[in-house]
Amino acid sequence: MPFAHNLASVRARIAAACAAAGRDPAAVELLAVSKTVPVEGLREALRAGQRAFGENYLQEALGKIAALAGEPVQWHHIGAIQSNKTADIAAHFDWVHGVERLKIAQRLSEQRPPARPPLNLCVQVNVSGEASKAGCQPDQVLALCRAITGLPGLRLRGLMTLPAPLAQASDPRAPFRLLRQLLEQVRAEGLALDTLSMGMSDDLEPAIAEGANLLRIGTALFGRRAGKPAP
Ligand SMILES: *Cc1c(COP(=O)(O)O)cnc(C)c1O
Repeated sequence: MPFAHNLASVRARIAAACAAAGRDPAAVELLAVSKTVPVEGLREALRAGQRAFGENYLQEALGKIAALAGEPVQWHHIGAIQSNKTADIAAHFDWVHGVERLKIAQRLSEQRPPARPPLNLCVQVNVSGEASKAGCQPDQVLALCRAITGLPGLRLRGLMTLPAPLAQASDPRAPFRLLRQLLEQVRAEGLALDTLSMGMSDDLEPAIAEGANLLRIGTALFGRRAGKPAP
C-alpha cells in the first residue's frame, strides 16, 4: 500500500487549498481514517510519519490500539457513540468526534480514567437538514456545548460534521460554512473552542476554504475500502 505516496498527494491538495484560501497549511491537522485497514497498514502509515488515526468501529479499534501499544499514536473515535460503548471509548481514545447528546458526554466524563488527560471532544452537528443524518440540530449546539463545558474529564474542542455527499450539493461550501458560523457563535458566547473537524477525501477543498483545521481522510490515504462503491 503506497501510503507515503498518497500522503504526499493529500498534503499537496491541502497546501493548494490553503494557498487559495490564504491559510497556513501548518494549521490544518490531518487525521488518517483507518477503519477497515489492517494493523500493518497503520504501521506503514506510522513509518511515513502519520500519528493521528480515526476509527469508527470499537471492537476493530481496540484490537489495533492493543497491537500498537507503545507507538506514538493519537486515537480518534469518529463514529456514532452508543451508551454501551462509552466506557471503552473513554478508557482508550484521545479524541471523540461523534457526540450529539448530553447523556453520552456525561457517561464519557464519568468513565474517563482520572489518570488520563481530559478526553478531547467535538460535538457532531447535522448541517444537511436530513432527518436520517447523525448529529444534533444547529439550534441545539450552543446549549449542548455549554452543558459539556462543565463536565470533568472532558475538554470540549469544537464541532464536527459529516455532510451529505458533495455530488448532492449545489454549493459545496454551504454545509462547512454553516459549521464555521456555528463555531463562531459558540465562541462569541465565551466558550474556548478551537477545532472545526470537517472535510474528507472528496471534499477537503471546500472544507479548508471554510476554515477546517482537522481533516478526516480515509480513502485518499489508504485506498478504497471494501464495500465502498466507486465514485
Ligand atoms: C469514513 C469516514 C471518514 C473518511 O471518509 P473518506 O471519504 O474515506 O475520506 C471521515 N469521517 C467519518 C466520520 C467517517 O466515518
